[in-house]
Amino acid sequence: MERAIEKEIITRLCEIVGEDHVITEGERLAPYGQDALGELFLPDLVVLPRTTEEVAAIMKLANEKLLPVTARGGGVGYTGGAVPIKGGLVLSTERMNRIKEINFDDLYAVVEPGVRTYELQCAVEARGLFYPPDPASFRESFIGGNIAENAGGPRSIKYGVTKHYVLGLEIVTPTGEVIRAGGRTTKNVVGFDLVGLICGSEGLLGIITEAILRLLPLPEARRTVRALFRTMREACACVPQFVRAALVPAAIEVMDRHSIRAVNDAFSFGIPDEAEALLLVEVDGNRDEVEREARMVERILRESGGFDVRRAETAEEERELWEVRRALSDAIKRYGTLKLNNDVVVPRSRIPELIERVEQIAQRYEIFVVNFGHAGDGNIHVNFMCDGDDREAVRRAREAVRETFAAALELGGTISAEHGIGYTKAPYLRMALSEPTIETMKRIKRALDPNWILNPGKMFSDDR
Ligand SMILES: Cc1cc2nc3c(=O)[nH]c(=O)nc-3n(C[C@H](O)[C@H](O)[C@H](O)COP(=O)(O)OP(=O)(O)OC[C@H]3O[C@@H](n4cnc5c(N)ncnc54)[C@H](O)[C@@H]3O)c2cc1C
Repeated sequence: MERAIEKEIITRLCEIVGEDHVITEGERLAPYGQDALGELFLPDLVVLPRTTEEVAAIMKLANEKLLPVTARGGGVGYTGGAVPIKGGLVLSTERMNRIKEINFDDLYAVVEPGVRTYELQCAVEARGLFYPPDPASFRESFIGGNIAENAGGPRSIKYGVTKHYVLGLEIVTPTGEVIRAGGRTTKNVVGFDLVGLICGSEGLLGIITEAILRLLPLPEARRTVRALFRTMREACACVPQFVRAALVPAAIEVMDRHSIRAVNDAFSFGIPDEAEALLLVEVDGNRDEVEREARMVERILRESGGFDVRRAETAEEERELWEVRRALSDAIKRYGTLKLNNDVVVPRSRIPELIERVEQIAQRYEIFVVNFGHAGDGNIHVNFMCDGDDREAVRRAREAVRETFAAALELGGTISAEHGIGYTKAPYLRMALSEPTIETMKRIKRALDPNWILNPGKMFSDDR
């Protein structure tokens, strides 16, 4: 929606954050108009606050003037959450990027929302501590974006997702009040769990201006084992075997044959042609335990049909094994100009059925599909690839997406494990949630944001 911003609003925003931190010119607005999806919606204005007080003043003004506001972190979301589809103001948190405290004895860190995930991981690791949430976008994503999306990643099977590491939050409400939820302790049952409410709220309920994050001692050692398989079914069926052996790996990642071909062709990893699937399994803990578990992993992989099983012996070999997985997102772009990436999830024992269903769906709609993901969590990224200019192919791909969601739901899972709903999945929300559930969520939204100015057009099909 085009909206000419009144001069008075621009003047007041300049008073709040300083002239240098309000962007009004077209060219400089564009980087704030898209995320990893690549669809551009230009904001009318971008504002870059530095403090909580500035965020509160911006929200008060926006609420008074009924101006849409979209909070932005690293801008690498996959469902358009940070994109201002109704125009208005983008509130970028990039200047709120301080790590305020790392507390070793009490195992927490206090950070502003614009700290990059990777930066925090490095800072705490330098102190012998560990922040486990590890979305594959960790080099670009911000902590605020991770909390708003409740980001997961390969390590979720053992360590859980972002919400399991959020002890406390400072939040600016859509009407400009500053509230605090939780605190510095793991145990805290005073009042409603507002921390839980904000985690995964996709920037609809408030703007996170500070987070207190739980840390762990850094595991002494890690080991990764890689195995190739002759079928995807065999590779996925192997996953529950680890639990049966009373072993919880730190990560179990799977890639299908098209993923393997793509990274092999792009980066010459030398993976043999007969590989139809690849599993990467990481274990961590104290040194002796890790050696024992890595041997167990090797055995389970071989007994489950794995071949060319490799165990990293050095940090360099470890990096090389993971490089195959990291190269994947870019490498599969060769299969089409449009990638419909859907992060469905099922109970992990149902992954083989999900993969079978997805391959049947792809065949029926004559759409190329690439599957990979966090097998340990039952979270598979189903990527339907096509030529974005071919309208008929895009239509078929979207039908295939709908059927994939239906299959995930039938198998006891759901339509998004990590990327959230944003605007891309809003049309499918009713497939996953009942009417009373959606209405309850909307009531919470209306209570906090009576004018529906914060991130309009997202999650629900209508803003009422
Ligand atoms: C290559 C690639 C790999 C990925 N891998 C993973 C993965 O393994 N696991 C995973 O979970 N996701 C993954 N993602 C998706 C994405 O990176 C995550 O959702 C990430 O958390 C987004 O962080 P961000 O800082 O870029 O958020 P943005 O995209 O900037 O914003 C995301 C949402 O958060 C809101 N938001 C941002 N900051 C705030 C704030 N301070 N207060 C309130 N709301 C806010 C925005 O309004 C928006 O709705 C991947 C994406 C890419 C491109």
